[in-house]
Amino acid sequence: MAVKFENIRIVLVETSHPGNIGSVCRAMKNMCLDQLYLVRPQNFPDPEGKSKAMAASARDVLANIKIVDSLDEAVAECVHVVGASARLRSIPWPIIDPRECVSQLAEIAENDQVALVFGREDRGLTNEEMERCNALVNIPANPEYSSLNIAAAVQVLCYEINMLSFLQGEEEKRMPDFYDHPRATSDEVEGLYGHFESALTALGFHDPDNPRQLMRRLRRLFNRAGLDKMEVNILRGILTAAEKANKEKPVNTDKA
Ligand code: SAH
Repeated sequence: MAVKFENIRIVLVETSHPGNIGSVCRAMKNMCLDQLYLVRPQNFPDPEGKSKAMAASARDVLANIKIVDSLDEAVAECVHVVGASARLRSIPWPIIDPRECVSQLAEIAENDQVALVFGREDRGLTNEEMERCNALVNIPANPEYSSLNIAAAVQVLCYEINMLSFLQGEEEKRMPDFYDHPRATSDEVEGLYGHFESALTALGFHDPDNPRQLMRRLRRLFNRAGLDKMEVNILRGILTAAEKANKEKPVNTDKA
């Protein structure tokens, strides 16, 4: 199941540098997100165009920004709100890491709207704003200096969201239902290897006294493939046919 990016919004509270807002747009678009809400931005829209410059090719995200007056308004339809916090505060609130945060968010976002909230560049989120959140996420960082630039913090979390979506896609690719027969059991596969060994010996291809890793290589080949029952049957059928043909082979009488 792919992540529903459209149900995940990023909320920035009272951001003061318009360049950061542009950088956030870029960080989001790079990771397939485009729902950005600004609560009382301090210098935005900015006539000098810093936000535009930093957004680069994420101008569509910039143009689609929703500006609101309160955090409540920004998260009104959301059933789950996570606040990003640089400092592990004194308020006892559940604190999770980015991966755990994103896996919860993505699951809830399958059916509902969710929000990730980021604080002011100088002061972060207030305690009241954090209490508005279901959980707080902290990006593990250098204890000597754990406060990331806001766009970098947005980037880390959006990357985790996109990475989760990527991994889910990979998993679906890895589990194609091309197995139209049940997988062979270990017993059945061992039976096949035994059959290979005896048939190839009878055919003169394998010399048990000088094995040269043949059986090991065949095992590695078939173990890598992951055989199903039908494939084991086909291979054993081929071996049986070869054994039969070998037995019925006219004895060469020319050789004196
Ligand atoms: N000086 C502020 C930090 C502001 S950084 C403070 O100490 O609170 C701006 C915002 O970026 C923060 O409010 C937070 O939402 C996010 N942020 C920065 N570093 C972070 C980290 N290590 N983990 C989670 N969020 C972080």
